[in-house]
Amino acid sequence: MNRFPEILRTRYQRFKDGDFQPNAADFEQMAEIGQSPDVMVVSCCDSRVPPEAIFSSGPGDMFVVRNVANLVPPFETCGRYHGVSAALEFAVLNLAVKHIVIMGHSGCGGIKTALDQNAAEQTELKFISNWMSMLDDVKLRVLSANQTSDKKHIQAELELHGIQASLKNLRTFPFIKELEDQGELNLHGAHFEVGTRLLTVLDEETGKFIAL
Ligand SMILES: [Zn+2]
Repeated sequence: MNRFPEILRTRYQRFKDGDFQPNAADFEQMAEIGQSPDVMVVSCCDSRVPPEAIFSSGPGDMFVVRNVANLVPPFETCGRYHGVSAALEFAVLNLAVKHIVIMGHSGCGGIKTALDQNAAEQTELKFISNWMSMLDDVKLRVLSANQTSDKKHIQAELELHGIQASLKNLRTFPFIKELEDQGELNLHGAHFEVGTRLLTVLDEETGKFIAL
């Protein structure tokens, strides 16, 4: 049997004996009554952008789904394995979250691979490229609008437009659209700059990301 990583053993002990103890009662209460977070975050798998750390959150605060490049696929009814859709359904209909935040970030490997398939090692099935093909139309628009820009700028633009595309896809889910129209649910786009820790938030009226 593979040995469980030592670093995880050590850190778990630190959590249980240190951070855990002061919140023991919270955990006991959460175990008893369940969770009721107000916020759902869709963020990237990238280890540099942990939403709980960025928003100083503890257990019970946020419902988080992470995937490559923080994408929300469009609403589909083919009934296969829809991980993001299942998480949305649970968060919106069962937990009644009030906010959904799509959080992208700088230097996203998924976005990089969307722009250049060779940017990541892939099997012949090209799971990453297939997943990122969700942004094909957006990518063409970004490339066409930034023909003279350098790679770095195009990457940043696609990160921002990808967030907007996921917001658009969120609204293809009837239960999300309905609750948003009723003012019960608020959708947000955000982008985290890893190097500077700057978080910008989308103003959907202007299409601009504004620093908090
Ligand atoms: Zn990423």
